[in-house]
Amino acid sequence: HAKAAGGGVFTSYRGQMREGLVERLELENDLRAALENRELRLHYQPTVDLDTNQVVGFEALVRWPHPTRGMINPMDFIPIAEATGLIVPLGRWVLEEACRQSVEWTAAAGGRPLKMSVNVSVRQFDQPDFAETVAAVLVETGMPADRLCLEMTESVLMTDTEANLEQLVRLKALGLTLAIDDFGTGYSSLAYLRRFPVDTLKIDRSFVERLGVLAGDTALTDTIVRLGKSLGMATVAEGIEEFGQLAALREMGCGFAQGYYFSRPVPPDEAGRLFIEGADTPVRTPA
Ligand code: C2E
Ligand code: MG
Ligand code: MG
Ligand code: MG
Repeated sequence: HAKAAGGGVFTSYRGQMREGLVERLELENDLRAALENRELRLHYQPTVDLDTNQVVGFEALVRWPHPTRGMINPMDFIPIAEATGLIVPLGRWVLEEACRQSVEWTAAAGGRPLKMSVNVSVRQFDQPDFAETVAAVLVETGMPADRLCLEMTESVLMTDTEANLEQLVRLKALGLTLAIDDFGTGYSSLAYLRRFPVDTLKIDRSFVERLGVLAGDTALTDTIVRLGKSLGMATVAEGIEEFGQLAALREMGCGFAQGYYFSRPVPPDEAGRLFIEGADTPVRTPA
């Protein structure tokens, strides 16, 4: 019967919608609580200097050990945090914790500096007082500004350009480093790249993934490395998993790299060991 069948489909569709909504609201409440109860954690993935093979820094990556759902991936809660505005306090906590940890490791390693990279959402960047927040965290934690790198996606270079330019200039004035994350996947124009005070291009993993497989992708990666060089920017390749990719990037003159080939993002104690004990040894012997 047509009407009954239609009604049935409609009901179950609404049911699914409600389930999705309830699930989302539950996650949102849990996330708020996790933030208040300081249950979020940071893992750290090393950045390796391709000239020396040494760990020169880390990227802080947030983790949520959920009491019943297990470890939740940032891809599954950062969007909720962004939609609800929770990303603002969450992002501040990440920044504080990463800076505090960085200062601690540098002290433990006899003053050896490290570069700490922190991911910043557009929603945080758009807060009028974002630069003041960053400045306050630097003071609170004793973190030297030039050891902090803020990673932002290309969307920051694409929207509301005048306000964004001013915000970038304010951040740069603090003395920190700015990186474009996942470079090559967005639509930032080369004109903006020149105009904005950006220091580092992080080449998206999707390019590195296909290195040596498709000739076209090798050419694209090579072009991004050259672009970085010609603009006086550092280049960091994301997502290196195999020696062949590393060799190709070295050949191109890419300065830095991250990826499972060197290390996955690891908990603080392990990252600290990597940095402190790894001062004289490369993170991984070249194959
Ligand atoms: P991202 O900033 O581009 O970080 C790199 C992601 O790639 C990380 O995933 C990392 O674990 C993964 N990765 C690194 N090397 C490899 C590799 O060799 N192979 C593969 N397959 N993956 C690799 P993760 O930790 O799940 O984070 C995902 C995204 O979530 C990040 O992408 C970033 O956009 C966002 N995110 C993470 N932490 C934060 C945070 O504190 N604040 C904000 N706003 N976003 C964050
Ligand atoms: Mg990043
Ligand atoms: Mg990235
Ligand atoms: Mg990426």
